[in-house]
Amino acid sequence: MPVPEMRRKLEGRMVIATHNAGKLWEMRELLAPHGLDVVSAGDLGLPEPEETGGTFVANAELKALGAAQAAGLPALADDSGLCVEALGGAPGIYSARWAEVGPSGPRDFAAAMEKVKTALKEAGATPPYAAHFVSVIALAWPDGTVEAFEGKVFGRLVFPPRGTLGFGYDPIFLPDGLTRTFGEMMSAEKQAIPADGSLALSHRARAFQSFARAYL
Ligand code: IMP
Repeated sequence: MPVPEMRRKLEGRMVIATHNAGKLWEMRELLAPHGLDVVSAGDLGLPEPEETGGTFVANAELKALGAAQAAGLPALADDSGLCVEALGGAPGIYSARWAEVGPSGPRDFAAAMEKVKTALKEAGATPPYAAHFVSVIALAWPDGTVEAFEGKVFGRLVFPPRGTLGFGYDPIFLPDGLTRTFGEMMSAEKQAIPADGSLALSHRARAFQSFARAYL
């Protein structure tokens, strides 16, 4: 994919290319201080593209490009997932798919977290279960230029799940050096962008920091 030779600063209207309510919430929160007119892919009635890429970068780029070209606006997409070391990086790019209970039915993350636990048992893994979250944020323009930024956060998995905040696999993820899971944190804490320029906590906020340095 072409990378912009000269980055244009983002201003005015843009699309958040996601149909995931948890991600939409977090990305709106991250963009809120920047005075952009943000609409979601869902608000615009854009279809949810099939994630046919083999990497987080490929999937983030295809989602951002699809929305930018359909809407004629710059579009920001996130592709993310949980990678468990003892499972060779699974569920990884298939993190959302592990939560699917039927062909197009609702996603069940309690079931997905249980699947992770079962897979660890089957793999003969023992605690601590090292894992990391990855987020790739891609910004695409209607002319087909696109650029991707990656963020990661390392930690371990805890069972049973703890906390009812956040979304997805948050209740089983305990970031290194902290005592509460992402499911026990308000999103303001998980997502905070430190004013002194130090590293944010979550994978998505870390990817956003790199994106923001380039485009905001
Ligand atoms: P996708 O990027 O749409 O393929 O979906 C990524 C999936 O990874 C989400 O549906 C969540 O299950 C999981 N995920 C990504 N980021 C987070 C996070 O910050 N917390 C919990 N789960 C996450």
